[in-house]
Amino acid sequence: MIFNEVFYSIQGEGLNAGAPSIFVRFGNCNLKCSWCDTKYTWQPGESDNQSVATPDVIDKIRVLSQQYSCRRLVITGGEPMLQQGEIVALKAAFQDFYIEVETNGSQSPTVEIQLSVDLFTVSYKTSNSKNESYELKVLPFAADCISKNNAPKVVYKFVVDSPSDFDEIDVLVKQYNLPREKIFLMPQGITAPELEKRSPFIAAHCLKKGYRYTTRLHVLLWGSKRGV
Ligand code: SF4
Repeated sequence: MIFNEVFYSIQGEGLNAGAPSIFVRFGNCNLKCSWCDTKYTWQPGESDNQSVATPDVIDKIRVLSQQYSCRRLVITGGEPMLQQGEIVALKAAFQDFYIEVETNGSQSPTVEIQLSVDLFTVSYKTSNSKNESYELKVLPFAADCISKNNAPKVVYKFVVDSPSDFDEIDVLVKQYNLPREKIFLMPQGITAPELEKRSPFIAAHCLKKGYRYTTRLHVLLWGSKRGV
């Protein structure tokens, strides 16, 4: 697989914020967000991806799992849905794990992967990312899709840079008929002051629309340091 890193940390964002988890970061991405905080997974000249045999990645995860008695795996990137076969292989190796995938929502998931994953956190990138707009592959991520334990199988997370982003987000929510209780708004930023500056107007919009607010706990704790 095109692999970037594996580490043990606290999930900093979204539905499972605060949960100690093992993170496996896949390399490569099909987008180029201007504020991307993991350019080392895709930017030519900056990327430190490696081609690693999947069993070797499984071994790295197993070591951390045993060391910390952790059964939660967050598969992130880059864009991990570019390597769906590898995600299925990780599920096969860790069948009793809770598996979360963080994706930009541009890739259609196979049926096999929908069954493998416990939670998709779909972070659609709006125009503040400076990407071309793209179709949210939302149909397989059906709005009412529920996992076996009755927990949400899909949540949607939007990165907010300024209040001018809200109109676009509200239109997308309506266009794709996304349930508002599954929408997270999160401040853009890789320092605590940046998050602090944006949080009040984001929280106010969440209150107005019934969305959820999320901060970035790992940024508040460790800034932009890698591997924590
Ligand atoms: S989709 Fe994610 S990994 Fe890809 S460029 Fe955007 S923020 Fe970075």
